[in-house]
Amino acid sequence: MRIAVVAGDGIGPEVTREALKVLGALTAAEIFFFPWSAEHFLKTGETIPAGAFERLARDFDAVLVGAFGDPRIPDGRHADEILLGMRRRLDLYANVRPVRALHDSAVPLRNARASDVDFVIFRENTEGAYSGRGRTAGAGTPDEEAVEEDVTTRRGVERICRAAFVFAGTFEKPRRLGRRPRVLMADKHNVQKRGGGLWNRVFFEVAAAFPECEARHMFADALAHEMVRVPGGLDVVVTNNLFGDVLSDLGAAIQGGLGMAPSGNVHPGHVSVFEPVHGSAPDLAGRGIANPFGSIRSLGMLFAHVGRADLETRIERAVAACLAAGETTRDLGGKLSTAEAGDAVVARLDG
Ligand code: ATP
Repeated sequence: MRIAVVAGDGIGPEVTREALKVLGALTAAEIFFFPWSAEHFLKTGETIPAGAFERLARDFDAVLVGAFGDPRIPDGRHADEILLGMRRRLDLYANVRPVRALHDSAVPLRNARASDVDFVIFRENTEGAYSGRGRTAGAGTPDEEAVEEDVTTRRGVERICRAAFVFAGTFEKPRRLGRRPRVLMADKHNVQKRGGGLWNRVFFEVAAAFPECEARHMFADALAHEMVRVPGGLDVVVTNNLFGDVLSDLGAAIQGGLGMAPSGNVHPGHVSVFEPVHGSAPDLAGRGIANPFGSIRSLGMLFAHVGRADLETRIERAVAACLAAGETTRDLGGKLSTAEAGDAVVARLDG
């Protein structure tokens, strides 16, 4: 296994170190560290070298990323070029964000237990409101107007919906519950008639090829409500880039907070990039208190992507055991440092 590691900024290197500790305890792998970060950019003027994306695609099985963002680079130029660059150039069209609580103590909802919080969000990762297209007129005048273009293509919707249905067929939860896997598409085609309309048509067209799954639609605002009120009925949610961004932060909150949430930027069957949902958290950087579980669980997703789902299961069990024992960083009510939390996971890998 050849893994590229880009630890990045802020707490990125701190949490990535713990994920690599867990990796070392589980399996042998060749690890290559790339220095691309705010620090590297400020020192050398380089964000990511020419040929880097091609090299990642050619020479590695997967990429583990920490986080990007630094107050010294307010426009986030380096982060855009490195992280958004990877998403675009490796065509990582599925942002896969599991919402899985591993212990009751991590669930902030009054009426839900950990077993109720177990679904996966498939966020479209290459288009939508993140197209960068648009225009501003009359800047600084009372008539100032900004138009942000939200781009949706049939090809883009089709492939993310297909990925969601394919994944649903492998999802363990509905099998355990003895029912058909559910795939729910969330949009706002009541107001966004063009893009939302395309999502709605294409989703149900794709669904027809997966009769073993139950296909359902909800408006994104109603889904936000449902995620808090009755999350247990959800299996797979597929949605556009912007709604996926917002809903998956809500998803992070109901599984224990930003420090717990893993993610993958995936192109099925190709080199893909795994990273915790949280950012560089400059307020925590250098203090040794960031929660490394999101990064460690992202490593679990990476393993599953390269055919080692067994190692993902071991990681999830070990993190669950740490939560049950109160072996956590302070964001989850524990007393451990980042490094101690990583050690605790390693100690529980064989439990
Ligand atoms: P981005 O724009 O890159 O998503 P952000 O500034 O919106 O980043 P984060 O960097 O994720 O958000 O941090 C938001 C807050 O969440 C932090 O200030 C911190 O308090 C908390 N947080 C984020 N990650 C962790 C973590 N791993 N452990 C503990 N707390 C965290």
